Amino acid sequence: MNTLILNKSDKLEIAARILENGGLVVSPTETVYGLCANALNEKAVESIFWAKGRPSDNPLIVHIASLDMLRDLVLEIPDDANKLINTFWPGPLTLIFKAKKDIIPNKTRANLDTVAIRFPANPIMLELIKISGLPLAAPSANTSGKPSPTNINRVIEDLSGKVDCIIDGGNSKIGIESTIIDVSDKRIKLLRPGFITLKMLEDTLKKTVYAPKNHFPIAPGMKYKHYAPNANLIIVDADSTQKVINRMHELIKEDMLENRKIGVLVVDEMLDFFENIPSLSLGSLQLLEDIASNLFEKLRQLDDLKLEKVYTIYLHDIGLAESIMNRLLKACNNQIIRLEDKK
Ligand code: AMP
Ligand code: MG
Repeated sequence: MNTLILNKSDKLEIAARILENGGLVVSPTETVYGLCANALNEKAVESIFWAKGRPSDNPLIVHIASLDMLRDLVLEIPDDANKLINTFWPGPLTLIFKAKKDIIPNKTRANLDTVAIRFPANPIMLELIKISGLPLAAPSANTSGKPSPTNINRVIEDLSGKVDCIIDGGNSKIGIESTIIDVSDKRIKLLRPGFITLKMLEDTLKKTVYAPKNHFPIAPGMKYKHYAPNANLIIVDADSTQKVINRMHELIKEDMLENRKIGVLVVDEMLDFFENIPSLSLGSLQLLEDIASNLFEKLRQLDDLKLEKVYTIYLHDIGLAESIMNRLLKACNNQIIRLEDKK
């Protein structure tokens, strides 16, 4: 298949026609790039799973550009959902509703009674939904298991030849996927942390939101390997930055004896301590928003460096730091070396 590349200034009508005909279009969103198809066309949705190599029991998020579209897709909009919609839409928040099952195909919902819906804030994505008039199923535009793409080069690496069209929209602003909250039940649950934090949700709802532990897979699809770079990525943690740096150096020395290709993925404040070692920075600890938006691209750059083992850090703050750690822990397959682990 020939993949058409559209520049953001190109006419989006071409991409909209492709979607109407059941094709695949990659569009920028404010979170990460999305692999879009008509959410109501079962065959089109099937090709998303094929292009990504995504397990079929992992449901898709449906993207809309109006509240009329929402009403067409869901059985009810609870009061709490309305509060969240008024505060955070358009934006990086996905809500789970009871689905109109006769309208949304099983494939899109992975046979669940519910459906995940988001009203994105990126103008290109919104325009694409509006011109096509279609709700768009859009998971991240990467091969399943790899870090999500935040620029067009990484999309091309994974999906060139597998999709009909890719739209270039520059670097993704937010860089981690949407927060997911389940409002389909009386007990409101946070299923995936993101740029919109638990505190922001609770402040809006004025009630406690149930937030299960990071690695417990309560949302379908969360049990799968995610974001993994080729290198074995391991977190090194201690109660001070200096101790983390010292411990990393000890570990690197041991690894060097075995001639391994070692690197570190740290923060600006630590870079000077790793001058002779392949090192990448996630950004400054003072700017967690930057760390979030750099994270997936840095994981991809680790692959470019062809390293075998990489040591990285743990961010202990609450809020956005927890959302970043949710992704980094998955990328590390939960491997953490804590200082007290030293024999
Ligand atoms: P992504 O892989 O970023 O496209 O996000 C899709 C994720 O949304 C899935 O892996 C699920 O964890 C979650 N999700 C989608 N639909 C539902 C649903 N109906 N109920 C619960 N979680 C859902
Ligand atoms: Mg994804």
